[in-house]
Amino acid sequence: MDQIKIGKFIQERRKYKKITQSKLAEKLNVTDRAISKWENGNCLPDVSNISELCKILDISINDLFSGEIVDMKDNEKILEKNLLDAVRQKEESDKRLLAMEIVIGVLISAVFFALIFIASFVEMEDWLRILLIITGFIPFIIMIPFVIRIEQKAGYYECQKCHNKYVPSYSSVLWAMHINRTRKMKCPKCGEKSWQRKVISKGDNKE
Ligand SMILES: [Zn+2]
Repeated sequence: MDQIKIGKFIQERRKYKKITQSKLAEKLNVTDRAISKWENGNCLPDVSNISELCKILDISINDLFSGEIVDMKDNEKILEKNLLDAVRQKEESDKRLLAMEIVIGVLISAVFFALIFIASFVEMEDWLRILLIITGFIPFIIMIPFVIRIEQKAGYYECQKCHNKYVPSYSSVLWAMHINRTRKMKCPKCGEKSWQRKVISKGDNKE
């Protein structure tokens, strides 16, 4: 922080507002000397005075510490950029999650079919056969809530009627009929039940 710049800025704003040092001191309940110290860049206003000072000088706290009126357009641009970056990051991580879901699905299916195959065609005791079949189901049972959670949270579902894009509830995803990632669900916006397509982005690009 540039104390000299801030001091000059305080002085400039005070003069612009046509307030004397002593008047400002009175308003803030500080000594005249304190004001002149700030304006000379010898010290910064106390935290307890900052918000009142900014109000009197008609500036933002950000302006005060920048020692100038900060261009709001720049602020908005930075905000917008951060927002876009956050959205982009979410989309990237959603894509990764959905890819991971496929890997999990393939793995548990492979284990399942392998065990069923062995149980069906290899000579063994009946109890072992049953045990193998049960074991084949266990990964499904464990992974299903996890996979449904990915389906629900990653990206959005797009209503084919009104093109509303939304994140549905866990239970509506769990119980919906589905073909791959397209699920028959009730749109929360238009209330129509239709096949809702999975999309990664709130924008137009489809997955
Ligand atoms: Zn709809």
